[in-house]
Order: sequence, then C-alpha cells, then structure tokens
Amino acid sequence: MITGSSDIPVEIHRNNIMDRVDLRTTHEEADVIIPRQVVQAIEEGAVCVRVICDHTDVFVLLLHVYLTMNLTCTVLMESTSADRTIVDIGATTQKNKAIIPSLLAAHALSGCDTVARLTGIGKIKVIKQLEKGLHLDHLGVKDASFDLVLSEATSFIAACYGRYNKASMSDVRYEVWLSKLGKKNIRNMPKLQALPPTTESFLENVKRAHLQTCIWKATLEQDPPTFNVLEFGWKKEVVGKVLSPVLIADDKPLAPASVLKLVSCGCSSDQPCGTARCRCYSAHLPCTMFCSCHQTCNCANRLTKEADTNSDSEAEDCDSNDET
Ligand SMILES: [Zn+2]
Ligand SMILES: [Zn+2]
Repeated sequence: MITGSSDIPVEIHRNNIMDRVDLRTTHEEADVIIPRQVVQAIEEGAVCVRVICDHTDVFVLLLHVYLTMNLTCTVLMESTSADRTIVDIGATTQKNKAIIPSLLAAHALSGCDTVARLTGIGKIKVIKQLEKGLHLDHLGVKDASFDLVLSEATSFIAACYGRYNKASMSDVRYEVWLSKLGKKNIRNMPKLQALPPTTESFLENVKRAHLQTCIWKATLEQDPPTFNVLEFGWKKEVVGKVLSPVLIADDKPLAPASVLKLVSCGCSSDQPCGTARCRCYSAHLPCTMFCSCHQTCNCANRLTKEADTNSDSEAEDCDSNDET
C-alpha cells in the first residue's frame, strides 16, 4: 500500500497492488498498473519506493517512466526471492539513457507475453543493437504510419541477424539460410526454426508488438488506448471465445503453389506415408506441414520422425546458446 510518508520507503507488491478509487484503471495487467502507483506514491511525498517484483516487463516499464517523467527520487526493484536482488531504477536509467526511448518497443518486438520470440535472438543481442545506435521510433506510437513501423522493425530485426539494407524479412531469411547452408549437403539442411520469419509471418508479429508497446506507453493513463485487436495480429476463436495470434493471414499462401505441389504428399490412409506410394517417402524426403498426413499426425514416413527428433534437439541447442 501507499503510505505517503517521506521517511518510510513505500512498498508496492506485484501480487498485492492497491485498489484505490483515484487509481482505478481498465488496464488488465498488473505490470502496466504498477508504474502509475509508483508515480502516485512519489507525488504524495515518498522519497523511496520499493517495487517487489521479478517481471522483466515491470523493469522495462519503470525505466521508461523514470526517464520520461524526469524522476529523481529512489525507486528500487527487488526480487521476490530469498537473496533479494535489488536494482536501482534511477542509476540504471542514468546509465542507459540513450537506449531507453526504444527499449519498450525493442522488448515487445523481441518477444514478451503477447509477442512470439525469435529462436536465437535473445534480449542481449537486442540490447546490443540499441547500443549500436539503432532506434525504434515509430513502433508503439499509436498514430504512426504502419508502413514506417514495419520498415523500422524489419531493419531492426534484420540487424539482430547480422543483415543490413534488406527490403523484406523474407530476403533476410533467404540470406541467413544461404549462410547456414555453407558446406552442408541437401540431406542436412538448416532447420526452419533457426531461420528468421517470412515477411508475411513477421508482419503479424510486428502488429502485436506495436499494439503491446502502445498499451505499455499508456501505463500512466487511466485506460489503455482503444484498438481493434482483430486488426493487430489477433483473431477470435469460436471455440472457447478466446483470442489467438494470427500466424499468417488467411489470404497468404504458406508457400508458392509450385513448391507445395513438388514437396508435399496427399496420403490419407490410417497409416499414411509408409510405402513408396507416398511422394515424399519415394523421394527420400520427410513429410512436412504441407502434407495431408500432417493433419492426422499419423505419418509413418521414417524420415519425418528423424527430422522431428533433429529439429527438437536443434531448438534446444539454440535455446542454450541464447543470452550467454
Ligand atoms: Zn505421404
Ligand atoms: Zn507423411
């Protein structure tokens, strides 16, 4: 709770934020509500506020608010764990002043609760791009042109993959694929999840990141900005009446028709793909999400099982290499 005393540090716990009429809000996330409570405590005379919370979202939001509000008092973020790591938000803001204006956007774009993260692109890689001077000035600005949002997001994520001056994420994906291919042969191709997303899939992720950043930037306001979420990478599921992320727009093909015809099979028996009648099996290729057997998960193609096992272990490798 907020005491308003200038001598005793005010404590704000994420799991027990206060319910006060003048702080009523329609923001749904506790993370977004906390910074407004911190600012309120300071305005009521507190010189030290302790936020007891472990969430990265809250940390990034506090840095954003500390800088934009020109705060000077002591704000500490303390872990809920026994060893109680303590971060001084003022000192951290001072040290990272140059990158904080783009930090919320970069955090959303590189993966958070509502935005998919990219395999192999961890937060440290993202911070390094900001430190090199890359900006995200439009992502998270409600009235910004979405073309600008998308083009700066593309440049930013392309740079995280070490690619520059690329017009589209599919171009980046192609280059990364070529570089990973190296001396590998056709039987030992780079795994799909290690590649950047396609332009069409990235577009949906950028929409969600833009929406999330706009909500975060309204942290000190009573209500979040009004958006039609169905235009920002989300769709309504009839079953369960929940929102789920759009992975790729319905009118976009998953691959060119010629490619689909070439590499997919239409097997639909109870035990599909176990014989040379399967186009993939006879070509010594694993079946993929483009094949009919993908719907039933019953594929008897030995190469499909091998490919699934390999991609699982590669994904684990990527995760363990991340953020070192
Ligand atoms: Zn088949
Ligand atoms: Zn199959």
